[in-house]
Amino acid sequence: MEKVKTAEVIVIGDELLSGETTDTNSTYLDAGLEALGWMVRRHTTVLDDVDAIASAIKASSKRCQLLLCSGGLGPTIDDLTLAAFASALNCGLRKDESVVASIQAKFEKLGRPMPPNNERQAMVPEIGEVIDNPVGTAPVFFAHLNDADVYVLPGVPRELKWLFKEKISDRINLGYRNVFRRSLKTVGRGESSLEYSIRNIIAKHKDKVQFGFRAIGVENHIKIMAMGSGAEDAIQVAADDLRGILGDSIYGVDQEILPEVVGELLIGRGDTLALAESCSGGLIAKQLTDVAGASAYFLGGCVSYANSAKSELLGVCESLLKRDGAVSAAVAEALATTGVAGPSGGSAEKPVGTVFIALAGPDGTTVERKQLIGNRSGVRENTALVCLELLRQKLL
Ligand code: AMP
Ligand code: MG
Repeated sequence: MEKVKTAEVIVIGDELLSGETTDTNSTYLDAGLEALGWMVRRHTTVLDDVDAIASAIKASSKRCQLLLCSGGLGPTIDDLTLAAFASALNCGLRKDESVVASIQAKFEKLGRPMPPNNERQAMVPEIGEVIDNPVGTAPVFFAHLNDADVYVLPGVPRELKWLFKEKISDRINLGYRNVFRRSLKTVGRGESSLEYSIRNIIAKHKDKVQFGFRAIGVENHIKIMAMGSGAEDAIQVAADDLRGILGDSIYGVDQEILPEVVGELLIGRGDTLALAESCSGGLIAKQLTDVAGASAYFLGGCVSYANSAKSELLGVCESLLKRDGAVSAAVAEALATTGVAGPSGGSAEKPVGTVFIALAGPDGTTVERKQLIGNRSGVRENTALVCLELLRQKLL
């Protein structure tokens, strides 16, 4: 693959390595950097330790052209990032009077005196540039080291996001995209069988396009990625080839979700939908109504959990419930979904994850038995997805 401009992210803080705080800053920066044309190659997480921070900055700055660091810019003794950056730059620290003035002004606005230790935040490397931070006390700092432009940002996510958008993104925008990705989404196909069925396409595009698979419950997404010149076209051709093989197995692309796709199909046909759910406990109704505008096709649903509710609310014959059990094809036909979500309630004949799904329309009723995997919430979520996929296939 072609060489493209790469970025790295270093997040700094003891709390990120003790299970205390989830590193959301890296994820935010990854998306932001990719949108500005950068390929993010690596994250590093380091403790609040001068040597650890300095060596991480030095190593990263030799591998990439843009390095964003977050955290360790506070006023307390555990905030060491600027001292470490100075050490990486092989220079000392200086007191920046503009930073002192800006911190003082912030305290004055709050009507509080500035504690003396806040002056520590004004100690910045002698080499480099201070970028004003109007949303907090910590300064943003920039310097060039080895191959990389290095920016140091505060760790507080609210400040980091604002500063990235308002102060950094214009300076680092490449003005073109380096990386193109697409996700083609399927439901109910195993990843190995999916890969096998597209092996010739993978081989055909291997020089330009990277293929990946992502399984989420019963969903399987084929991810394609290309970098550098011609990447956008390469992705389009590969996606067209995949559609040629997989056809209607692909329910959607990228941000599209199954309930939305089903809703659009229903609108296109002028059809309406009603649900009678058991083991999915209203989840299918929830997913359908998460989509704005669902009232155009979704009439309503009934969650009939106990046998008495199945017979009283939906008129499922009590003798049927006795004869075949609540989890059965016959009961599903009278309902829509019924199954064993677990963890208890399974049997040899109908283990946890056994689900019957019925679809009734103008041209009759069909019932399918599925064996789904997962814990209780997994079985329920997969039931909803499989159900919507069966409906989609029927509507096509
Ligand atoms: P600092 O700039 O190190 O003083 O960080 C201030 C606060 O921001 C920390 O106490 C954390 O709660 C939060 N924080 C720091 N780094 C991250 C990160 N990578 N992701 C999410 N939150 C963070
Ligand atoms: Mg910190």
